[in-house]
Amino acid sequence: MTTTSASTTSPAAGGPALPQERRLVTAIPGPGSLERLERKRAHVADGVGTTLPVFVVAAGGGVLLDVDGNSLIDLGSGIAVTTVGNAAPGVVDRVAAQLAAFTHTCFMVTPYDGYVDVCAALAELTPGDHAKKSALFSSGAEAVENAVKIARVATGRDAVVVFDHAYHGRTNLTMAMTAKNMPYKNGFGPFAGEVYRAPMSYPFRDGLSGEEAARRAIDVVEKQVGATNLACVVIEPIQGEGGFVEPAPGFLPALAEWCRANDVVLVADEIQSGLCRTGDWFACDHEGVVPDLVTTAKGIAGGLPLAAVTGRAELMDAVHVGGLGGTYGGNPLACAAALGAIEEMRTHDLVGRARAVGDLMRARLEALQAEHPVIGEVRGRGAMMAIELCAPGTTEPDPVRAAAVSAYCHAQGVVTLTCGTWGNVFRFLPPLAISDALLEEAFDVVADGFRATA
Ligand SMILES: *Cc1c(COP(=O)(O)O)cnc(C)c1O
Repeated sequence: MTTTSASTTSPAAGGPALPQERRLVTAIPGPGSLERLERKRAHVADGVGTTLPVFVVAAGGGVLLDVDGNSLIDLGSGIAVTTVGNAAPGVVDRVAAQLAAFTHTCFMVTPYDGYVDVCAALAELTPGDHAKKSALFSSGAEAVENAVKIARVATGRDAVVVFDHAYHGRTNLTMAMTAKNMPYKNGFGPFAGEVYRAPMSYPFRDGLSGEEAARRAIDVVEKQVGATNLACVVIEPIQGEGGFVEPAPGFLPALAEWCRANDVVLVADEIQSGLCRTGDWFACDHEGVVPDLVTTAKGIAGGLPLAAVTGRAELMDAVHVGGLGGTYGGNPLACAAALGAIEEMRTHDLVGRARAVGDLMRARLEALQAEHPVIGEVRGRGAMMAIELCAPGTTEPDPVRAAAVSAYCHAQGVVTLTCGTWGNVFRFLPPLAISDALLEEAFDVVADGFRATA
């Protein structure tokens, strides 16, 4: 059956807010979603997977509403994107005004204020008080690629160091930088050259202090690459897809210190961890680490495609005129959305909200860990928390249990995401517009999921 314009039941922007509740009126997925899945199968490439196959017609606060009338609690934010909430008023209003004014000129042809305003805001918000400039793009992978381009021109060197469990995107260069084979790289090579991988600090698995783990990584870099060949070190200050791996304290500062001493550009990939998510504006702020370049995307524009490289003005300006850009980079609608999202973050103190959400989640997850020894570790900061599932008392990954709990949560109307090199990590990334009551209910469901699959 063909189903078109199913989304007409979505409430208009500025219309009545969605009831903030979990409400299941059919099985998940319901009949309407099942019909649409057939249509997806017919028209959408199989390579584009789906975590939870309900078709969404509206979303806001902490819920997603599907075509069958089910209201699901969102603990994923579309992978850390709708940090300010879905269809957040500040985003909708600014985008609507921009939409009515003009939709595109290409900033490289004729410029407009929104682009410059976003760059000015990023200069203010990113770590460090040095002179900064930015360039805007449309996807995170594109921002990472451009950070590498900038670092190479600025240093005159080729090599790029990344880490175990890293995720930096799906383009050719960023596939080379991403660690995990399936599903991101398998069969897609050959990959870009001059990308080297160093061991990450992963306290749960290596037991090393931050200083020890940094020494181990730096030794690999010095012996296998050589500082004089190295343009940049690219690191997620808390890893995203790789399992929300939070390096031991001292790891990032030691790495930053080494980069500074060796004129190597330190690139913080804050695409998942940035913009309030971790309870700071940026995850690097936690230890006062000041990277030379920062990549942002995901949470920056409330769901519209926008990404940025922000960094030291002299590095950013090393590139020849015309060397950075793209047709859609810094699209006016996406810039309006970013300005709206940043305004929401500031006026609603979403840094503080992320900390409160983190406290609530940590308390729930630690209680769960006490009850279920399969939870080897609770980790993360702010609204970026995870649990890693392993055979009790070991670090032997248990992806089967993770999948079972995940399936339970989905069937009960809670959108949860997994991640990790072994697929054994549950990650929790709720929108910061979610209520405490919904969060508590969602974690009741997660707890039931652990009991039901014990
Ligand atoms: C998602 C992500 C990317 C890639 O962003 P896309 O917009 O999907 O290209 C890069 N780095 C990190 C840390 C990410 O989480």
